[in-house]
Amino acid sequence: MSGTFLGMPAFPGNAAAAVRDSQLRFNLHKATRTIRGKRAAVVGELPDWGELRAAGKEIKDHTLRNLDRYLLQLEEAVTRAGGRVHWAADAAEANRIVAELVEATGETKVVKVKSMATQEIGLNEALAERGVTAYETDLAELIVQLGDDWPSHILVPAIHRNRSEIREIFREKMAEWGRAAPEDLTDEPRALAEAARLHLRERFLSSKVAISGANFMIAETGTLVVLESEGNGRMCLTLPETLISVVGIEKLLPRWQDLEVFLQLLPRSSTGERMNPYTSTWTGAAEGQEFHLVLLDNGRTDVLADEVGRQALRCIRCSACLNVCPVYERVGGHAYGSVYPGPIGAILTPQLHGMTRATPASHGRGISELDASLPYASSLCGACFEACPVAIDIPEVLVHLRAKAPHPRSERLAMRAAGWIFDRPVRLARTQRFGGRLRRFVPGRLPGPGAAWTDTRDIPDIPAESFRDWWDRTEGSTR
Ligand code: SF4
Repeated sequence: MSGTFLGMPAFPGNAAAAVRDSQLRFNLHKATRTIRGKRAAVVGELPDWGELRAAGKEIKDHTLRNLDRYLLQLEEAVTRAGGRVHWAADAAEANRIVAELVEATGETKVVKVKSMATQEIGLNEALAERGVTAYETDLAELIVQLGDDWPSHILVPAIHRNRSEIREIFREKMAEWGRAAPEDLTDEPRALAEAARLHLRERFLSSKVAISGANFMIAETGTLVVLESEGNGRMCLTLPETLISVVGIEKLLPRWQDLEVFLQLLPRSSTGERMNPYTSTWTGAAEGQEFHLVLLDNGRTDVLADEVGRQALRCIRCSACLNVCPVYERVGGHAYGSVYPGPIGAILTPQLHGMTRATPASHGRGISELDASLPYASSLCGACFEACPVAIDIPEVLVHLRAKAPHPRSERLAMRAAGWIFDRPVRLARTQRFGGRLRRFVPGRLPGPGAAWTDTRDIPDIPAESFRDWWDRTEGSTR
């Protein structure tokens, strides 16, 4: 999978198709409502949630302001602990580094811990081109991989699938990737989990190379931290002889003590749990293990340069904004055409790729229509901002990006004309009088590109007399 799913039309086209899928809407509604309820309950338990949220925001902002310094500190600490640090400016460089590291081991199979950074750069596909098969070990990622599908949620990538669909995927596809599913597999959660467990266990025990991401990196100690719920991450991190971690440069925290804040914010905001089930930390290379850290930029320093947009780099990928978003709940994650769906995807993807120029992520397509349409994939209701544990003002960034997005010529001309009219009261008064005379000829539906606007909105009636003229005539008297 590449940074943006290739060939995807702009968001409105994807959304229109998605809302017609009633099964998808049912699955999404059920899942997001459940997670929303759990999150609200555990967040409500903490009287100091507001202070925690402010602390998370402040730590992230401080880190981003001093990112250059902390990254060098991290590199030094990881190297001191026996690891090797590689710097990747973009997806192609990161993929090349990882592929060469795997090839150096002589292995052709690797296991993976769930990692959004590696999905962002299309690592599995890049490895496949060089004859290396990557096996996903997170249950939901396994379902997505076996189903030849795309993830549609940050935390629950297979949220669009229900139990019976998962059973069919396991029965049809598991054997192609390793141990087959039992013939009599039912759609009971316990049976599905057991089939996945047995399938994955073989993979863990036979793999010599693992690839992970990380939720956090600690600059002062060189420690990486992975939070997960199934224990698959711990198997990947400890069993193989070579561990390669691909991590975005914004995942940094200055001090070990900073984890205290995020280990409270993240589980409550993501899975609705008080404490994360499996939290693995490692510093450099363990005995008998080789450790490589690939630090990924891939557009992040461009995001950092934008004073409004840079707050998106505070994101800890909890997915709370997805679960409260009325747009996401109706259209699902695939409509966003990116590994980062929902409100955070609507502000992060266009910034990482850039909306007004051909980027490596646009793969020669020129300006990405999909990326440019994402800032409009929102009702601006503000629920995402309220839910975000690091207080990212997503609506503010959406409006900021809308202003930066390429606009059609007709819209630019209309805005220029409006600016000229509103610039002088006398021009506005004349235009209002002129409009009042022509009011009977105003169509109910605009022609050309404006039709998309009036398909879902009524053009307001133009009054026969403007407020100014009425005031001049009556001096405000209603008698
Ligand atoms: S933007 Fe905020 S709520 Fe959304 S995934 Fe990131 S941290 Fe979570």
